[in-house]
Amino acid sequence: MKIASDALKFILEVSKSTAPREFAGMLEATDDVITDVVIVPGTESSEENAVMQLFMLPNIHTVGTVHSHPTKDTTPSTDDLELFDRKGQYHIIAGAPYDFSSWRCYNSKGETVRLEVIDYEFKEEKEKW
Ligand code: ZN
Repeated sequence: MKIASDALKFILEVSKSTAPREFAGMLEATDDVITDVVIVPGTESSEENAVMQLFMLPNIHTVGTVHSHPTKDTTPSTDDLELFDRKGQYHIIAGAPYDFSSWRCYNSKGETVRLEVIDYEFKEEKEKW
């Protein structure tokens, strides 16, 4: 699995601007590349637990979840692991200071998986517009 560098940049920027609150979103992929993040409504402005909001989402077609932690600890919590088990195969946790080395991706069992960061050209969308 891979992730577009623009999608990763977006995750890190939103995590940074939301901190110390958590933000949560769903990951969307095109083929084997994560290209989009759908932010869960409310997580940018409320103090409610971001992970709990992910639980309440219907199972829309996504490959997994993303959320931020307010500290540099990217270890999944018990709630996180339960979420990973239910909502897709790839789960990103971004920790402070939200740079290219302060995030991890986990599988549905909570094991670390490697995501390759690639420069992804959004060709189809550009042609469409
Ligand atoms: Zn968490």
